[in-house]
Amino acid sequence: MAEVTMDKIVSLCKRRGFIFQSSEIYGGLNGAYDYGPLGVQLKNNIRDAWWKEMIQLHDNIVGLDASILMHPRVWEASGHVSNFTDPMVDCKQCKSRFRADQIDLNAPCPVCGNKGTFTAPRNFNLMFATHIGADVDAASTIYLRPETAQGIYVDFKNVVSSSRVKVPFGIAQVGKSFRNEITTKNFIFRSCEFEQMEMQWFCKPGTDEQWFPYWREQRMNFYVNRIGIHPEHLRWHQHGPDELAFYAKDAFDIQFLFPMGWQELEGVHSRTDYDLTQHQKFSGKDMTYLDPETNEKYIPYVVETSAGLTRNVLMALSDAYDEEVVAEGDIRTVLHFHPSIAPVTVAVLPLVKKDGLAEYASKLEHELRDDFATYYDQSGAIGRRYRRQDEIGTPYCVTVDYDTMNDNTVTLRFRDSMEQVRVPVSELVATIKKATKDYKRV
Ligand SMILES: [Zn+2]
Repeated sequence: MAEVTMDKIVSLCKRRGFIFQSSEIYGGLNGAYDYGPLGVQLKNNIRDAWWKEMIQLHDNIVGLDASILMHPRVWEASGHVSNFTDPMVDCKQCKSRFRADQIDLNAPCPVCGNKGTFTAPRNFNLMFATHIGADVDAASTIYLRPETAQGIYVDFKNVVSSSRVKVPFGIAQVGKSFRNEITTKNFIFRSCEFEQMEMQWFCKPGTDEQWFPYWREQRMNFYVNRIGIHPEHLRWHQHGPDELAFYAKDAFDIQFLFPMGWQELEGVHSRTDYDLTQHQKFSGKDMTYLDPETNEKYIPYVVETSAGLTRNVLMALSDAYDEEVVAEGDIRTVLHFHPSIAPVTVAVLPLVKKDGLAEYASKLEHELRDDFATYYDQSGAIGRRYRRQDEIGTPYCVTVDYDTMNDNTVTLRFRDSMEQVRVPVSELVATIKKATKDYKRV
């Protein structure tokens, strides 16, 4: 196992079209990234796996896609207007900005080295403010949402009255959120624009104590069993009294061993009835739930599972990355993605371009498109083409050679083992599907 560094991940992402710095030709925009052809596919695959896990494989979870722009009172109710701040200092010499809690204010500036040049700390709200309508004044100020969860709370009553769900039930949402981070670092780990996958589980007060461990287990299972992350790269971190929000009963983070160390990937939080109660107070609207069987009226408690989709992408890349010595002096870079999230599932390669092999392979690639994300590559030596697919994490390569023309069999090569087997074309789809179902991470 080679050491996985952030530099290696960033370099591979740029080289192979996973992730680019935003606005690169203008010098880049700090904390913003573009997902290239392979990156957007990887991100969508992880999103789809999560959506399927939540909506399709669990009872009583429905989806939602709330607006990024919301009424400004939402963020007063949620506490973001008054509390969602970081203490900030500026270096008077070089104008660099730092989080006061992340640097030693008595030490020299980490950028220019000048001493004693920091401004006094002041609180800086992390929400991006903008204006709606033609007038630019305080009354027109709105925010880009800093989290997706509030859209779920605000629509709670709409979902209950329109979709016949009964407590306990969940509302799941994937979408973009925005935070004006003072210090962005570690590539896509902390960016100003990011994507979240959140589910709020509404349950009867008291039953949250059973649901909390249930959702913790479900979420860890997703990473290990559904998208094939190494269990030894995942761990739990329970929030201590100093980390816990004042309204929260309990909170655990799933941490992943990123190249820069253990960091939060997802939070599973027991949030009580805090958010719905706040919205009832601020909106003046009744947020209670009427149990149709017992006629009890209450504001449900919430267990939240809140994952970073863009952090999931960084996790998938870091967990999959390896450099393997194939033979003396021959090292291959390989991404061991689980086949369910790999941007390309099957690459089809003619051994040579001539004698009808390219035409056969191209036709086969078209036929496979209905079942898999495919890629066709006819240029270069076959060994080099395998390596290109290894580097982007393609789990299966199909090679069309001269025997294919006679007996309609192809070589199926497995990325992880580099093993090659001969398979009749008629059995190819079933063979690949079975291999994906039985896939075990190396
Ligand atoms: Zn400075």
